Parts: sequence; C-alpha cells; structure tokens
Amino acid sequence: MDLPQDFIERIKIQLGESYHDFLAEYEKERTYGLRCNPLKTDMEQLRSVLLENRIVPEKVPWADEGFYYPADTHPGKLPFHEAGAYYIQEPSAMIAVQLLEPKPGEKILDLCAAPGGKSTQIAGRMQGEGVLVANEVIAQRAKILSRNIERMGVRNAIVCNETPQRLAQRFPLYFDRIVVDAPCSGEGMFRKDIQSREEWSKEQVEVCAARQRDILEQAAAMLKPGGILVYSTCTFAPQENEQNAEWFVQRYPQFKLEKSERLWPHLHRAEGHYAARFRKKPIYEKNEKEQEARLSRQDKRPASAGKVRKEKKHVFYDLFAEFCTATLSQESQSCLREKIEAGQLAVFGEQFYLLPDGIDSPDGLKTERAGLHLGCCKKNRFEPSHALAMALRPSDVKQILEPEEPERYIRGEALCCGAQKGWTLVTVHGCSLGWGKASQGILKNHYPKGLRRSYL
Ligand code: SAM
Repeated sequence: MDLPQDFIERIKIQLGESYHDFLAEYEKERTYGLRCNPLKTDMEQLRSVLLENRIVPEKVPWADEGFYYPADTHPGKLPFHEAGAYYIQEPSAMIAVQLLEPKPGEKILDLCAAPGGKSTQIAGRMQGEGVLVANEVIAQRAKILSRNIERMGVRNAIVCNETPQRLAQRFPLYFDRIVVDAPCSGEGMFRKDIQSREEWSKEQVEVCAARQRDILEQAAAMLKPGGILVYSTCTFAPQENEQNAEWFVQRYPQFKLEKSERLWPHLHRAEGHYAARFRKKPIYEKNEKEQEARLSRQDKRPASAGKVRKEKKHVFYDLFAEFCTATLSQESQSCLREKIEAGQLAVFGEQFYLLPDGIDSPDGLKTERAGLHLGCCKKNRFEPSHALAMALRPSDVKQILEPEEPERYIRGEALCCGAQKGWTLVTVHGCSLGWGKASQGILKNHYPKGLRRSYL
C-alpha cells in the first residue's frame, strides 16, 4: 500500500523494531466490525441472526457489544440492520465508550458526534434514561447523525449542530461525562480510505493537534466537577494523542489522566485508535460555584421562558391522545402519561417531541432533533413518526406484523395483514422496523420513502 513517505519516516522512529510488523499489516485486509444495539436486541440474538445469514461473528475483546465480521460478507444489507439492531463500526473505535463507562440517568455529551458511532454506543448503555447531547458542527453531517440516532431507536438524545464554543456557553459545568472523538489526521483510516492517505501531511497533523486543543478547552468548561472526559482519535501521531493529553493536564490541573489506551493494527486486530480518560477533581474552582448557580437558575426557568412550548394540553393534544389510546399498550400509555405530566412534551407547530428527562428545551441552539420525535398532526389526525416506530418495542404496541419477507416492506410494498386495523408496528426478528396502517386486509406501507431500497 502506498503510504505517505513522511508518515513512514515518523512511524519508523515511533515504533522502533516493530515498525516492520506495522508496515506488513498494510499489505493485509482491513478489519470489519459491528456493534450490537442493546436498545433493540442482545448479543445472543444478534449472533444467531448473523449466523443464519452465513456471517460468522467473532467477539471484539475490548468492547462488550462488539463483533468482528468477515470481509466478504455484508451485514449492512440485512433488514436486521435497517431495524437498528446493530451499527457497523470499526472495532478499535469502540474503545472510547468502553473507557467512558456511560450510565443510565446521566447527562452525557458527545461533542464531535457524526456519523454517530460513539453516540449510539453511549445511548445503548444509557437505556433511554438521562440526557445524551449529540453534537456535530457540520450541518450535513448532523443530519446523518440524526438519522443514525433514529435508526437505533434512541429516545433520549438531543442532536445539535453547534460549535463547541456555543455549546459551552449554554452548558457550563453541566455534563457528567463527555466524549471528544476529535477530528484528526486519520492515520488509522489509511487501509480503509485512500483519501485519508492523500490528504495526510506533517502540517495537517499540527493543524489537527491545535484544533483538538481548542475543542478540549470547551469540553473542560462543560464537565461537572468529578465528571469523566474521554478524548479519542483514530490517528497514531503523538502530537494528537499523548502530547495533547499531556498539554491538557498541564493546562487544566483540575484534571487527572486516569487511563489511556492505544490500539495498533499489528498488535490488536484493529485499524488503530487512541483514547484517554480524564477525571475532573470533585472540587469547584474559583468562579465555578457561581457559574453552576447561574446554570441551575436557568434550568429552573418556567417552560414558557423558551421558544419551545412544553405543554400538557395543546390544540392538537386530543388527536395525539387518540392515537396513543388506539395504538399503544396500557403500560406504554401510562409511561408516556408520566413523562407528559413531568413536562417532557414539546410541541413545535404541529410536530410533537418528547424531551429527555432532566433537560429544559434546547432553545437557542441549532437543533436537528429535540429528543424523540413522536409525530405530527395533519389533516385532523395524528401521524406517528418513523422515529417513534424505531424506539418502540413490540410489547409497547397493541398490534404488530412480522412479515416473512421484510425486504418487501423495505422496498415499500403493501403487505397482507388479515383482520388488523389501524397503526401496526412492523418488526423483523422482534425489532421494530417501521409503521404500516392496516385496513381491509392490506397493510399500507409507511416506511419512509427516503429509506426504501431494493434488494438483489
Ligand atoms: N464520533 C464520531 C463517530 O464515532 O461516529 C466520529 C467523529 S469524527 C472523528 C470527528 C467529527 O468532528 C467530524 O464529524 C467533524 O465534522 C467534526 N469536527 C470537525 N471540526 C470540528 C470542530 N472544529 N469542532 C468540533 N467538531 C469538529
């Protein structure tokens, strides 16, 4: 493989004798991985569905949810993938969230989040409880992030399209955990992506290292005392990894480097990643108490203070309530009712959202997705969103249809459905895939047009 000459020179010095082993890896096939989504399935079921499809998975040693899959197979084409049961992710990229150790109920920020590998892994660990703010600075990439959050059935994420600086103004000392999976020189992408090899230069490494320090500064300001920050890159350059970690603890002595991991292609059956875990001292610095008091006043503002109106009763509320009664199970209705009582319903015009618990509306921020999109009111009826379908389990609804050929549903075809009537959750291997509406023996296909595709 054609690697940049300056890169080879540096790696030679960096790795000493093992440099030959490293280079030899670049004549081999890259590694392929996927990560189970515990919001939708479990490792056992995933393994058996993959095996049914002649894909032999092997466990990734450093990530609880990770499997390798063989290079000549295509798990991304299975309907179970469309159902959000797993996420295709390079195995070493799974290390950052393993170090982050997210927990249900926490406030967590993924500052550089698109396309969503880390965010969806974090969401899986949070089990729908707490708040995940998934942020991406590039608008087009924030849309891709938002689609992945939707496919994986995440209920508790706010997807933003902001600069780290603006987020830091909104969320000082706010998060329990933050991951900064920083834009980097991408040396760990060399086997996968020819562009990353062509764009690489010594100068670019320095530019990336400086940008990473800027992003880290903002992350430092958003972490609560006692919180955990994980910094990661998919590059091997020490300037972007150990040297930045060193710079960070010097610049912010209230942070301690607890642990760091380096994954190398010649040592770990992976493309390569660096991840460092810092803990912020549980003591407030000067000004921080004051800042936190200001923040908590801000969070206690009445709902009407924001642009978004969180309402229990809205002009379209009855249509929404009618849909819930007809479609959702009793248990799921009462769970939703509790959240609405707690003020988590947000209505933007005709669009209904359920905000994650514990956060005020994300007013003032460029927001792609303000929590779980429930649906919208049109033509005097409530139409549930695809996001809601993806976040529901079969036990959450009154009616499901598990078609024998889910590919037909994904193509957009109508299906036969017997005596069912009304909104029906279509599933594959017990995982929600989308909505259909049953009438007179036919299930009208509500799989979003933009997601439909043909199968060979
Ligand atoms: N965490 C993602 C995942 O696991 O799917 C991958 C993130 S990627 C390595 C880095 C991201 O940072 C890119 O999406 C890029 O657009 C974004 N980015 C670029 N410049 C940035 C900046 N100045 N501040 C914050 N994010 C930036």
